[in-house]
Order: sequence, then C-alpha cells, then structure tokens
Amino acid sequence: MNRRAFLGAIGSVASLGTLAYATRDPIETLEIGVWFSEQAATYDGLKRRIREYVIRCFDFEFWTVDLSFGGPVAVGTEDGARVTSRGEWPLQVGSGAISLGDIDPARHVNLLVTDGQMRVAPTGYGMPRIASVGGARHIAVLESFDDVLETGPETAFPWTVPVTTRVRTMQVLLHEIGHALGLDHEHGAVVREDGIGIATPMLSTYAFGSDYAGEQSHCGSVYPVPESSQRALSLSFSACSRRALAARAADD
Ligand SMILES: [Zn+2]
Repeated sequence: MNRRAFLGAIGSVASLGTLAYATRDPIETLEIGVWFSEQAATYDGLKRRIREYVIRCFDFEFWTVDLSFGGPVAVGTEDGARVTSRGEWPLQVGSGAISLGDIDPARHVNLLVTDGQMRVAPTGYGMPRIASVGGARHIAVLESFDDVLETGPETAFPWTVPVTTRVRTMQVLLHEIGHALGLDHEHGAVVREDGIGIATPMLSTYAFGSDYAGEQSHCGSVYPVPESSQRALSLSFSACSRRALAARAADD
C-alpha cells in the first residue's frame, strides 16, 4: 500500500486517533519515541536535555519510561503545531506503523521536535499517540533540570520554574506528550501561592492569557483566575493529571 492508499484507508487524521484508542491496553513500560526535524537535528545537546526532563517528569510509580530517539525526519514545515494538525507527522507515524517509510513508531507516544516559533500559540499539537512541538533552538540552551529549579521562586508547590522562553518550550513539550497520553487542558491547574500564579504543564500559559476566564477542572476544582503580577510555571503534573495517567496505565 503506498502512502496515498494508506491515507485513503485511514480516511482522516481524526480516524488515526480513533484507531489508537481502539488498541489501547494497560501500560507497564511507557514507550516514548522522539524524532527531530532536519533543522532541529542541527542543534547539539537536545537528546540529553529531552531525556533528562521527560524521564524526570513522567517517572511515576505505575510505569517505567522507555525513551528512544529516531533519526532526523524530513518535513515540509517547521511549524510545531501544523506539522501534526495538517496531518504530515501523523501520516509519517501511521505509514511507519504499517512498515512504510523510515519511522518505527513507539507504542505510546511519538513526538516530533521541530525548530518552529514559540511566540504565538499554537506552538505544538498533540493527539492520541502523536505529538509535535517547536522550539529546538530554545531547548538547546535550556539549563539542566536541577539548575532550572534553582532559578524558580521558592514555593511549596513542587518544581516551580520561571516563565522564560526556554523553560516554557520544555513545558509545552511535556504538555504535548500529555495530550498524546490522553490528557487535555482540564487536567491542568493553576495554583496560587504567596501571590504567585503557578501553571502546571497541561494548563501552561493558557492560564495567563487575557481571554482566560477560569475553567472547571476534570477533577472538580474551579481554577481561580490569577490576579497576581507574578507568574511561574511548574514542571510537575497536577494531581488531576497524575490520576488520569495512573488510570491510563491501568487501562481503566
Ligand atoms: Zn494543549
């Protein structure tokens, strides 16, 4: 089957997501595959940083993380959202799943990192099993996990970090992996502590947007609108997200 025939058989990008849901089963070993666009692959140190952050942030007691990296991928756009929303990356992953093309898909998450802009949302995109994010140049200059924690405000809430472009880029990367695992924005939270509004990965800087009116969380709480002038991010997934991931691992 050639790629066009495959696309016809699948029907649409949305159907790929349905296909992924139909085959879900419990997760003991969480398989995450990461690829780079050819332009993103020109930066040094990306694999080390991504490995460090992804393993720290997805290391839960209910699964073991198996993170692997694939070779550079030729794509027609560096836009971290459009490369997935317009079907190009999902098609490459889907083709790999039936042994066409160069991609050998990971079982649970297939993330493409591009060098797309990180100023105007959307900067990434996630759907079941498949995600992408821009900002390779920012990840390339991101400090180590422990050094980033040193730069954040001291809060009781864990892993609070400043809203810099490079830290935000990594948080969006974690956010899109969250989407690939079935989380959505309502699994996120914004926590207020000592006048600081702290946004967890699934809500991210949406919490700080001018049109953000406060939303209902999947876990019952209503997010307060942060009135504070000080804003921060957390690299730690909310309790609501962690519960949803635990349920996903157990295939509840
Ligand atoms: Zn999102």
